Amino acid sequence: MNCQEYIERFLSAHADNELRGRERRAANDHVGGCGACRACLADERKLKELIRTRIRVARAPSDVRLRIQAALEETPEGGVAERKRLHQDADRLLRAAANQCNQRDR
Ligand SMILES: [Zn+2]
Repeated sequence: MNCQEYIERFLSAHADNELRGRERRAANDHVGGCGACRACLADERKLKELIRTRIRVARAPSDVRLRIQAALEETPEGGVAERKRLHQDADRLLRAAANQCNQRDR
């Protein structure tokens, strides 16, 4: 496994401890021998932890959450690409929010 493959396919799941069996062994082997990816894994875990703790503090008002939920449910059948795009948008927003939290804490 090379660094690109590790980061693109395994990093996020590895940080969440969601890898099993051969994939987990391969990911652990790679990180064991690669300081750069080890650092990425540590950052990813920090980011996820930060998001978890901050989200609890700054939950969206319930009407906003309901509207987002409704919008997601309105996605037409077979609108997998659209749904994926919405999730990517949400992911990007969460990362931006986490970055801001980081900067504020410094
Ligand atoms: Zn690597």
